[in-house]
Order: sequence, then structure tokens, then C-alpha cells
Amino acid sequence: METTCEAAFQSLTDNIGTFHPGNKQVLIPEMNRAGAHLIAAVCRSFGIQGRVLETYKGMDLGQEFTSGKECYPCQVTMGDILFFIQQESEKLGRDFNPENYVYFMPESDGPCRFGMYNKYQRIVLDTFPGLDKLKIGSITCRGGYSLDGFLEKEKVRDLRKMMYLSVLVADILDRMLWRIRPYEKEPGSADHLVEISVPDMAAAFESHAADKDTEAILRELDAIIGKAVDLVDPTIPRKPRIGIVGEIFLRMHTDSNQNLIRKLEKHGAEVVCASLAEWVNFVNYIEKRSAMGRLRLNVKRGRLAAMRSDLKQAVTAGLELMYRESRQKDVYRRVWRQLDLAEDHKISHLEHALAEEDVFSFDIDTEACLSIAGIMEYARGGYDGVVNVYPFTCMPGMTTAAIAKPLMARSGVPYLDAAFDASIQPGREAAIRTFMYQAQQHQRSAGNRAAPSN
Ligand code: SF4
Repeated sequence: METTCEAAFQSLTDNIGTFHPGNKQVLIPEMNRAGAHLIAAVCRSFGIQGRVLETYKGMDLGQEFTSGKECYPCQVTMGDILFFIQQESEKLGRDFNPENYVYFMPESDGPCRFGMYNKYQRIVLDTFPGLDKLKIGSITCRGGYSLDGFLEKEKVRDLRKMMYLSVLVADILDRMLWRIRPYEKEPGSADHLVEISVPDMAAAFESHAADKDTEAILRELDAIIGKAVDLVDPTIPRKPRIGIVGEIFLRMHTDSNQNLIRKLEKHGAEVVCASLAEWVNFVNYIEKRSAMGRLRLNVKRGRLAAMRSDLKQAVTAGLELMYRESRQKDVYRRVWRQLDLAEDHKISHLEHALAEEDVFSFDIDTEACLSIAGIMEYARGGYDGVVNVYPFTCMPGMTTAAIAKPLMARSGVPYLDAAFDASIQPGREAAIRTFMYQAQQHQRSAGNRAAPSN
């Protein structure tokens, strides 16, 4: 028994980590659709066999191998990897070899359970014969999700830059869809454009990422945006604008949030959802902030070696953040020549906004900082309503709900909490309809039919 327990613990350290994948296929779970496909394309450009897992088809497996107490995204991704193994082993028969794959599941530390997904999934995989050989590749928020060890040292920097560009482009494709779909001349044309554009964009990344030819990649994006603008009927008046914040997986994974954005649009909304790049920048910002905090402490204690190491980490994280924010600005500016997409919130600005209101602090960490500050910024920016999306029992989601509700009641901007698990809540549609009625009233009373500021 002792040996079995020891082996199980050993597997948590030996079979989860940052591995050079070599010839193995890297299995990437889908969160926002374009994002996973573009990241896989960047991997392939750098010689890594990136492959996107089909999502939400294995929910029965996800539910069978979880107790229901885990976070909903853990259940969904558990189902995705088990479904893949089931399908792949059926397809390949005796040729199926778990050693040929690395399942990619990042983690984070802190009070949140995201750090436990890959541990729990490791334990489940290890209960199946042979699946202990299927490694879990993980990167962590410590080091700002750095990809060190994932590839040869000299290529890691370029890979990281191109991954970030793919995250930006995926965000822009999403925002483009939400900006044009409520105003399309032909119903379904915006969805169709995105459907055919994701493979084109992935092909551009696969061909040009390793050569760092960003101009060729962005030219492909320009062409897609140009086509999107042509789909819009300019006579349709501006609709109430709704901002979405919340837990990153749920707000981006359309199956898990039961197509919330489409439902809001059905009741007359134009939606802007917090982006993946915002999360990446936040992780970077927190890393720099924590290193600065440790540095101040070590200066007081006079620990020279620790001070040096903290300073190095703060400078590295600060430079990375500066690079990312300026790259983000450049790409958005380029898109604005054709289409007025909403800009992302700058993280330092969100921290100041939160400090001004004095209702929460970045010292507490977790996504709640981003969500609460994001809600306040949407309200200040002239939005007609805000939705907080999170998995049922999500700690940062519930913290956000508790703090944001009274704030939003004071501001007079309609606000909705939307907690999800795999079940269908019969009252959801009515809640959305009521919320959208309030948003329309807000738009009317604010007289903001003209385009609000981004
Ligand atoms: S943010 Fe919420 S859903 Fe995600 S790991 Fe933390 S508690 Fe779970």
C-alpha cells in the first residue's frame, strides 16, 4: 500500500512538468476556439506537433471521473482528454501508444484550485493501464507562463513572442465577431466568416511564425477584418453594449457558458468580453508586482543575494509586460484602421481604479482583482450592462459577485451574475431577458445611442 502511494506521489512530480516534447504530439485543450488552433499552429511552425483536442464531446466521461466537487473547467477538460484517448485508441488499435503524446495543462499557484487540475487528472490517468506514460506538460504562472524547457533555449524567446501574437489575433477574431454579428446584413454571415478564417489564420501562423514574419501574419488578419466590415449593415442603430468579465475558462468556452454571448445578442446586445491577452498581461503584472514586494522586504532585512534575485525577476517581468503591452497596442491600432474594436484594459490602470474605490486589492491576487476592476471600468466607460460569468462554486467568481453587486446597484448600471455547471437552469433565459430589458432602458436614459468610448 505504501509503495502504491509513493508511486502515485512520484507520478505527480515525474509525469507533470515542462518537458521538451520532441516528436510527441502536444494535445492542447480548447478554450476560445481560435486561440487553441492558433497556438497549435505556432507550435507546428516551431517543429512541435501541436494538436487541438475536441471539446465537450466527452462530458459524460468528465462527469464519470470527477466527484462533482471539482471546478467545472476541470471536469470539462478531464472529459476532453479521456474522450481523445478513447477515440484515438479505437482508431489506432494496437498502434496506440500513450508515450506518443503530451497533454498540455498549465497551472497556477495561490488560493485557486487551478493548480490542482493537472494533479487530479494525473491521478485519474494513472488508474488506466499504460496511461502513466502519457505525460502532462505544464507551465506555471510563476515565471509568467514562461516556456523555458519546452523548446531549445535559443528558440524559446521567439516561441513566446509568437504565442502572444497568436493570443492577440485570437482575441481580435472573437471581438470582430461580437462587433459585427449584431449588425450583419445576412444572418449567419459573421459566423461563417470566422469559421473559414480560423484555418486561414492558422495556416499563416504555421508558415510564418518561426521566421518571425509578423507582417505576413498581420496581412492575413487585415484581409479578414476587411471582409468583416463588408458584412455590416450601417443603418442598424447601435445596440446596448454589454461587458463580460469573470473566470477565464468559462467566459471563453462557449459550450460551458451555454453560448451566453449569443443569448445576449438574441435579446438585443452588442457584447465585449474580457480577453485572453488581458489575463496573460495580468499574470505578468502580478509577477512583477510580487518581485517588487519581495525586494522591498529584503532591502529592509539587508539580504543582498535575495535582493539581486528579486530585482532580476522584477526587471525581467517588467520588460516582458512592456513588450506585450506595446505589441498589443500596435496590433489593435492596425485593426482600428478598418474596424472600431474595443480596447483591452491596461492592468496598471485597473489596479489604480480598484485602489481609488477601495473595495478590493491586488494584494489579494486571483482573478477577482481583474473582474471587479473590469466591471467598474465598463460602468465608467458607458456600457449599458455588465455580466460576471463563473463556474458554480468558483471562489474568485463568488468574491466578485459579493463586491460588485452593491457597487453596481449604486452606479445604476444593470448587472447580472451568471454561474454555470453542466446543468441547464430553467430561469436563465428569463434572467437574461430581464437584464437586457434593463440594459435597453439604461441606453435610452443615458441617451448613448451613439458609439460609446472603447
Ligand atoms: S478560478 Fe474558479 S474555477 Fe478556476 S480554478 Fe479557481 S476556483 Fe476553480
